[in-house]
Parts: sequence; C-alpha cells; structure tokens
Amino acid sequence: MKDGFGRKIDYLRVSVTDRCNLRCIYCMPEEGIPHISHDSILRLEEIQQLTVLIHHALGLRKIRITGGEPLVRRGIVSLVKGISPLAETVMTTNGIQLPEFAAELAAVGLSRVNISIDSLKDQVIREVTRRDVTLNMIEKAIESAKENNLNPVKLNCVVLKGVNSGELADMVRWATDMGTTMRFIEHMPMTGSVCSHVPHDDILLEVSRDLGSSEFTGTEGTANMYETLSGVRFGIIAPVGGGMCANCTRLRLTAEGELLPCLAGGESLNLRDMLRSGREDGEIISAVHGLVAKKPHHGACGGVSMWRIGG
Ligand code: SAM
Ligand code: SF4
Repeated sequence: MKDGFGRKIDYLRVSVTDRCNLRCIYCMPEEGIPHISHDSILRLEEIQQLTVLIHHALGLRKIRITGGEPLVRRGIVSLVKGISPLAETVMTTNGIQLPEFAAELAAVGLSRVNISIDSLKDQVIREVTRRDVTLNMIEKAIESAKENNLNPVKLNCVVLKGVNSGELADMVRWATDMGTTMRFIEHMPMTGSVCSHVPHDDILLEVSRDLGSSEFTGTEGTANMYETLSGVRFGIIAPVGGGMCANCTRLRLTAEGELLPCLAGGESLNLRDMLRSGREDGEIISAVHGLVAKKPHHGACGGVSMWRIGG
C-alpha cells in the first residue's frame, strides 16, 4: 500500500523486546530501561498474529527483527520460524549471542543479519557498550553469520565525536577484509543517550581523506552507498541530516504492540489493545490502512528511545 506521499510501505521492523545485554552509551541509560510490566509486552504468539495481519494489510516485502537485543528474547527461533514464510526476514543484533543461535535461525528461514560494531579497539568497544565486549566476540558473530549463509552481513556503526571518529577508514578496510560492508549511522539524539553527533558530510570526508575520494553509487534502503577508487564500498545512514524520509518504506511495531509510522512522531496505533480486546481481523487491517495513509514526512528522524522502537 502507498502512503499519502506515494511511498510504498512494505517494510516492518519488529522490536521483540526492549531489554538488552549491553548498555550502549548512545542508546540506553547506564541503569537500563525503566521497568515495564510483563503483561504489557506482547507474547510471541501476539507478535506473530499482528505481523500476519500487517502483512495482510500491506503485502510486506521485508521484516526486520530487532530490539532491544532480539537474541535475549526467549523463543526467538520459533518466532522467526513463524514469521519468515511471510516475507524476507532479517535481524539487527549486537551479535554477542549470535554464535549460539546462527545455525538455528538460518534453518528456520532468517535470511541475513546486520551486526553492530562501533570500534576496532577493545577499550572503546567497552566504553561504548558499558560491558566487557571485545572485538574478538564481534568477529565470532560475523564468522558465525557467514558460516550459516546469513549473507550479506552488514555492519552498523554509530559515529560518535571523540569516541570512534578517527578510526572510520580503518573500520571500512577491516569490514571489507572480513567480507562485509561497513555502514556508518549518524547519531540521533535520544532519550537517555549521552553522545555528540557527527554529520553525514563529515563522516564522508573522514573516510575519503584516508581512503581516497569516494563516489556516490546510489541508495540501499536508507543508506547512501559510496565506493572508493580502489573499489571499497561503505554506506552512510543520515537520519538527522535528512534525505531519508523520501525513501522511507518502514513501519515499526514496538515490543508493547504500538505500531509507529515514523520515528519523529505523529499518530500511532495500539495494536496490542485491539488484539486483546477481541477486535475482528478486518478492523485491525483497516486501522493499519488508516495509519499508513497518514504516515508523516518530517524531513528528519529523532527524539525517541531506540531500545524501545528498535533503531
Ligand atoms: N541490539 C541490536 C543492535 O544493537 O544491533 C538491535 C537494536 S539497536 C536499537 C538497532 C540499531 O540502532 C543499532 O544498529 C544501533 O547502533 C542503532 N542505534 C541505537 N541508538 C542509536 C542512536 N541514538 N542513533 C543512531 N543509531 C542508534
Ligand atoms: Fe542494546 Fe542495541 Fe541499544 Fe546497544 S544499541 S544498548 S546493543 S539495543
């Protein structure tokens, strides 16, 4: 279905939990998230039911499982099994538990993964995640994804001034050597995050200064893709700088069952309450149509909690 701006809305991001085993400084407060009652979180069957209804409403092309950290949600493999026949199913993960799950997830239909990595230096990774995470752990996650054909593996790095800015070109080279693609994300100011922003053009300048001039080769979803003269590829995702809204095909389902058409605000729909109060499938499908018709086009994203809406 197309929204009021002619965008085909066919990509659903499903946050399966707001909990996480890390505490990234740009995402969560150190003490973790405020307590949310167990009852207000969707059960796995409810996530599956709502995803099926949203698929009926829109004809989904892609479903991304995210969080919080999706691999900390018990039953994640059976959820992927239930959802993957509907549309291409992919996952964004911090990778810590991926070696444990990659084979099972691939077997039940997960197509590929994006893995977060914010530095090549253990000390910086620890500083950003506020946990004892090392580069070696992330390398193992990438290897497990590749071994199980969860390809192409894409890497996400949130660029933070004075933290990891300065090693961006090294990260592009390293990702290429690992057989993956590095994508840099502009930091979005969020509730509870404590970092400063590096804009798209500064990210491009830094990488190009070290790797030689880079040519824009087109967009991949919301990422602007670039290639250096030596053929090395990388992406920049610029939610703050803008330009993403024109290509935004997304809806987000939070772990509490709220359907959000836009990160920057606007109307949302409480699908959990509709489902639990026994509304007919047709009524839920019409409500999704109504929400999509009003999906906003603000010009930039920001202002919410990433652990809540899944990045
Ligand atoms: N826990 C998983 C992970 O970290 O990959 C999935 C959830 S996380 C919220 C999804 C994505 O959002 C990650 O790539 C993360 O880097 C990104 N993210 C989180 N907070 C952000 C922020 N303030 N600005 C930009 N990206 C952010
Ligand atoms: Fe957890 Fe992902 Fe947020 Fe980091 S970015 S705290 S890994 S949800």
